[in-house]
Amino acid sequence: MSSSTLDSTTTRPTTADVTDLAGEFIALSRSIWDEPELRWEEHVSAGKQIAVAEKHGARIVRGIADIPTAFSAEWGSGGPVIAVLGEFDALAGLSQENGATERRPADGNTSGNGHGCGHNLLGSGSLLAAVALAQTLEREGVEATIRYYGCPAEEGAAGKSFMVAGGAFADVDAAVSWHPGPGLGTAQQHSLAYTQAYFRFTGLAAHAGANPQHGRSALDAAELMNVGVNFLREHMEDTDRVHYAFTDAGGASPNVVQSSSELYYLVRSAKTASMRTLYERVCKIARGAAMMTETEVEIEFDGASAEILPSTVLEQHLHAVVEEMGGVPYDGADIEYGRVLQTTVPQPAIAATKAMLGLPVDDDSPYFLGVPPKPDPLHRPQMTGSTDVGDVSWVVPTVQIWGGTAVLGTPGHSWQMVAQGKTPAAEKGMVYCAEAMAAVAYDLVTDADLLAKAKAEHEATMAVTPYDCPIPEGIVAPPARPGYTAR
Ligand SMILES: [Zn+2]
Repeated sequence: MSSSTLDSTTTRPTTADVTDLAGEFIALSRSIWDEPELRWEEHVSAGKQIAVAEKHGARIVRGIADIPTAFSAEWGSGGPVIAVLGEFDALAGLSQENGATERRPADGNTSGNGHGCGHNLLGSGSLLAAVALAQTLEREGVEATIRYYGCPAEEGAAGKSFMVAGGAFADVDAAVSWHPGPGLGTAQQHSLAYTQAYFRFTGLAAHAGANPQHGRSALDAAELMNVGVNFLREHMEDTDRVHYAFTDAGGASPNVVQSSSELYYLVRSAKTASMRTLYERVCKIARGAAMMTETEVEIEFDGASAEILPSTVLEQHLHAVVEEMGGVPYDGADIEYGRVLQTTVPQPAIAATKAMLGLPVDDDSPYFLGVPPKPDPLHRPQMTGSTDVGDVSWVVPTVQIWGGTAVLGTPGHSWQMVAQGKTPAAEKGMVYCAEAMAAVAYDLVTDADLLAKAKAEHEATMAVTPYDCPIPEGIVAPPARPGYTAR
């Protein structure tokens, strides 16, 4: 039987296939939630993922693009190569007790980190999809290569972008992924391209009272850079974003002219080209601040990602799959908990989530129970955040399912998101999205026409607008740089 004649509606990984496996991957997600690790340092989380993949017979490749926590797990051989993307990094300062309906750091969490973006679910759900798919294809004797990518440092460090730059997706035909969050969405949102960099000022220390005239303040330089950037804000596009953090304010002694300071900037814009222009303007301001204060500035490029290139073909197919599946099967206990938790989220965010996903506004259920509206490729939502899935989407047709795991209105990177990370509702959403991903990937393997259409759409875009890699030539991922230290 040729693969194109398979009846995909009856032979996809079924709900039963995914559900039979689910318990192990729910346990994996909980275990990663329990030990939240930050970008590039996800050694324990990656190890847990690799152990589960190996148990299911995967061939593992470690250290992709010289990143110690980047790996792939592969099943099958020949045929189309389908990538399933997973993440597992957490965020600093977001330790939170699971299932609580108030802000309360988790007992026994010594790192202070928390899974504020649901990446414990993301990686575990994607790996579940890959295993369910690989088992189904093996059972049916279908020739294909299924490759799960364990992608570190999505949170503001662009693990996937460095993996793309390192050629990790060169032989891949298409990619599927998801992102946990509130509601449910099949529309592929636009995201912003970004660059982040450290601006390190060096001045001259002096006694701030006795001889300040001999000092040159790196702290003044950092402050002037921020003032300059604040004036820049009036002259940017509406969707441009510039954020900063003080990573070194020069010290705690006001009687010393501070000789060092460091700012960490994140610059976002709708396209890689406009983002690069905006980033150059920020660099110019930094050099101006150094000139004004007679200090030196050193700029260290940290990471960057392109905006998402949506695949209309795969988006419409994903939507058809979700229509067949129906909504996420939350139960009464989920709804009861969700109602209480939802009173703690910023109330305008509930309507904002619904507007973003095009969900009915008059439904007061804390979770979205139905099937999201059919995506309209001419009116895509613009997300003003970023994701390193962007770079993957420029090298292979890529599709993502959104949501399923949090009450409507849950802000990203919040304690409420962490609190929901091990709830039964979130885990139902994870299993649901795994099934949807496995179904889309199965169809990409068995329906040659679908894959050809997705590739043709991608190639047509690339012929007009080729991939503009936002990472400068020769720049490797931070953990592969000499003298790298975790921060
Ligand atoms: Zn995320």
